[in-house]
Amino acid sequence: MFDNLTDKFDAVFKKLSGKGRLTESHVDEAMREVRLVLLEADVNFKVVKDFVAAVRERAVGTDVLKSLTPAQQVIKIVRDELGRLMGEGDNAALDLAAQPPVPIMLCGLQGAGKTTTCGKLALQLRRDKRDPLLVPADIYRPAAIEQLKTLGRQLGVAVFDTQPGDDPVSICEQAREFARLNGHDTLILDTAGRLHIDSELMDELGRINDALQPREILFVADAMTGQDAVNVVKSFDEKLDITGVVLTKLDGDARGGAALSVRAVTGKPIKFVGMGEKMDALEVFHPDRMAQRILGMGDVLSLIEKAEAAIDKDDAARMEKKMRKEGFTLETFRDQLQMVKKMGSMESLMKMIPGAGKAMKKAGGMQLPDKELKRIEAIIGSMTPAERNNHKMINGSRRLRIAKGSGTRIQDVNQLLKRFTEAQKMMKKMQKMGPKGLKGLMGG
Ligand code: GDP
Repeated sequence: MFDNLTDKFDAVFKKLSGKGRLTESHVDEAMREVRLVLLEADVNFKVVKDFVAAVRERAVGTDVLKSLTPAQQVIKIVRDELGRLMGEGDNAALDLAAQPPVPIMLCGLQGAGKTTTCGKLALQLRRDKRDPLLVPADIYRPAAIEQLKTLGRQLGVAVFDTQPGDDPVSICEQAREFARLNGHDTLILDTAGRLHIDSELMDELGRINDALQPREILFVADAMTGQDAVNVVKSFDEKLDITGVVLTKLDGDARGGAALSVRAVTGKPIKFVGMGEKMDALEVFHPDRMAQRILGMGDVLSLIEKAEAAIDKDDAARMEKKMRKEGFTLETFRDQLQMVKKMGSMESLMKMIPGAGKAMKKAGGMQLPDKELKRIEAIIGSMTPAERNNHKMINGSRRLRIAKGSGTRIQDVNQLLKRFTEAQKMMKKMQKMGPKGLKGLMGG
């Protein structure tokens, strides 16, 4: 996500940090570069102008330049202002405090990711212990109705049985009645999209809006379309008074223009971002965390949340029990790896750890950890249960057999065993120290 933007900011900051003492003209030079970086990322011209002016004012207007770490202070100001630009302090949570069934309407142009987002949202709501009903209200594309019904089946979420040919407003009203009768507390309305804004579509959305009075109207915008997305949000907002934006396809090579401009231009908050085609790839949007990610500073909070969402509490408890009983063995180590894998690719996880993204790039390519993980799994998979529970019995001839079985080299097996032994020693030390000792180790 925004790799290009991150690299360019990195280059500007490196230059700045190399200067030692900073003068006003150093800041001006850096700001000229930041301006170019943002314009190249397709950020709205006026937004860029205001942003650079705000950073400059804060950087030269206070005691920043006289401080001991002027470059770091300037970087911090850029981070803060990026967060502010994207709406820091906005409340991204959905407002669903109303008499159920609470309608949420999703709208947007065709292909933006509306139907997909309806499914993702249903999954999130169910995790929040709500009982949503998906409502296909795009009658012009029968495939869209089928698509939503299929998603509902996969997710185990109820889908209203829309018949092509019905009037969209009447579909939504019938669905509300159905939800009332069947105890669904939330309606997710998947409305029609077109390739371009047209007045007929806007009228139809307006009529659904009047009839259902949705609590949330989310505009789904494709981040890859940059500033165009921002303009479309603006037009829809004029007609519908949307409550928020969902930016999709941030996992692709979107340049950042939409994410950085939409809040400033329209005044509407980004509430969610789509990070992939899969149903769990929807994240609540946090401007401050996004600013950190853009600047390559990682995002530990999102990482923890991801872990909490991906890892089943029962699984974790079972694993803890096993660890306590059997200790840290190659067997429990493999369980842990498999659990981590549920959270997503190692590449995406590493980027959330401060500094790790950059370090990995230096180490030669981002694919490394996922390949490495597969290799480790293959090696452990080729061991017998006895070997997994007691690695000390793995002698030379066993190592050779394991290497052959896993399609790796004997050096790979040796390296894994060496690293595992070190990790095991470390675990033992930590267990002895207890929670207090651990805190000391982490420097807290
Ligand atoms: P709609 O016409 O607005 O309903 O769009 P769809 O939901 O059918 O999505 C269009 C395409 O975009 C599909 O191939 C989706 O899988 C894809 N898509 C949707 N959201 C995302 C996302 O966040 N990331 C990626 N990579 N693809 C997405």
